[in-house]
Amino acid sequence: MAQDKALGLLINYEFCTGCHSCETSCQMEHDLPYDRWGIKIQKIGPWQIAEDKYQYDFVPVPTDQCNLCAERTEKGKLPLCVQHCQGACMQYGPVDELVANFNGKTRFAIFVPNAGTVKA
Ligand code: SF4
Ligand code: SF4
Repeated sequence: MAQDKALGLLINYEFCTGCHSCETSCQMEHDLPYDRWGIKIQKIGPWQIAEDKYQYDFVPVPTDQCNLCAERTEKGKLPLCVQHCQGACMQYGPVDELVANFNGKTRFAIFVPNAGTVKA
């Protein structure tokens, strides 16, 4: 019997450059004001990693405004943040497939909003 599978975003934040394209494309797609986000980049650091070297981490965090771009994905399109990710570090799909297909060699996070399921 078909079951509902949770849909989500996998974010491989090891490769996030902090470019903010995901934030901006989400705001435009969902007509959000400048101070509301479906996804927000958190800039962490800097901390020193060598005598003259410092490091930042950029961690994209989806918010409760995110509906996984339901209007787009119902038509077979990717969520707009995934389509425009400059670091190619975002994936969309059934959560179990995202995890199974990920090589696990870098840091990642899975985001699962209430919105999305698919029959499987
Ligand atoms: S999936 Fe859609 S709604 Fe969610 S953060 Fe990405 S662009 Fe925004
Ligand atoms: S678009 Fe991709 S690389 Fe750019 S900030 Fe968002 S998650 Fe990071």
